[in-house]
Amino acid sequence: MRIDLHTHSSVSDGTDSPTMLVMKARQAGLNMIALTDHDTMDGVPEAIDAGKRVGLVVVAGLEVTTKYLAKAIHLLGYGVALAGSELADELVKVRQSRVERVDAVLERLDGVGLMVDRDLLAGLAHSAATIGRPHIADAMIRQGYVADREEAFKRYLGVGKPAYVSHYAVGLERAIDLVHQAGGAAILAHPGIRGADQVVTGQVIAELVANHHLDGIEVDYPLHDAATRDLYHQIGARLGLIRTGSSDYHGTGKVGHELGCALSRETAWELLSRRIGYYGGVLPR
Ligand code: AMP
Ligand code: ZN
Ligand code: FE
Ligand code: FE
Repeated sequence: MRIDLHTHSSVSDGTDSPTMLVMKARQAGLNMIALTDHDTMDGVPEAIDAGKRVGLVVVAGLEVTTKYLAKAIHLLGYGVALAGSELADELVKVRQSRVERVDAVLERLDGVGLMVDRDLLAGLAHSAATIGRPHIADAMIRQGYVADREEAFKRYLGVGKPAYVSHYAVGLERAIDLVHQAGGAAILAHPGIRGADQVVTGQVIAELVANHHLDGIEVDYPLHDAATRDLYHQIGARLGLIRTGSSDYHGTGKVGHELGCALSRETAWELLSRRIGYYGGVLPR
């Protein structure tokens, strides 16, 4: 079984529709993926339908943008049943705040002489339920201001850069509780990248397990080097956490995150599906 538990579609900042994503996953020899768009599950029904047609199991998921000590921390939710949940209400707030943030980012870009075309941006983000900085980056690429998303983040959009603006986000601890309330299992995404480990330390992870029953951590991740993977395998084993491996595929939006470039073991999925069952969430049928 080849399992990739972290992928994005054009319903957030990936570049493939949910159907295309599923077809490419099948072509890449995967048997199971989770669709984990940022702050939305709008693409999940389409992905599940496509999966049934091509023979690929699709796990209902999402990647919640949370904050911990003012830093953005990503939390993966699996098997979440969003309808009527408090998590759904929070996601509405997050997505609305992301829309408002776009204006603030564009103003700042104006301030450094980059006039991003709003209609162009709207067109590029037309299929996205969740708008993010990568969409702004795509408009900047089209207008010739930068070569790729990477450069846009490095020079303008990343934390500490001239056009960086944050948005409303739920606290990490509350987000874990809300995922559980909605029937899902909660896995801390890529804990070793972009300084996340400065705030969510091994000690903090232990507290998240003790006080909020965090279910697992993403260990095998393209941007985690061998030492980082070893470290999180050890932390995870000590705390009894489910340890996953995933690509964080974004289509052409991110290089080095090809489908299946990191995989989850079958035992990780067995444990994860058991948790989803325990919390009362949705399992693939
Ligand atoms: P946002 O959701 O607006 O906060 O933007 C964060 C998203 O941008 C992340 O989830 C990544 O998908 C993407 N991202 C972050 N850094 C980079 C980068 N250096 N190059 C390309 N995409 C990035
Ligand atoms: Zn993304
Ligand atoms: Fe992420
Ligand atoms: Fe992601």
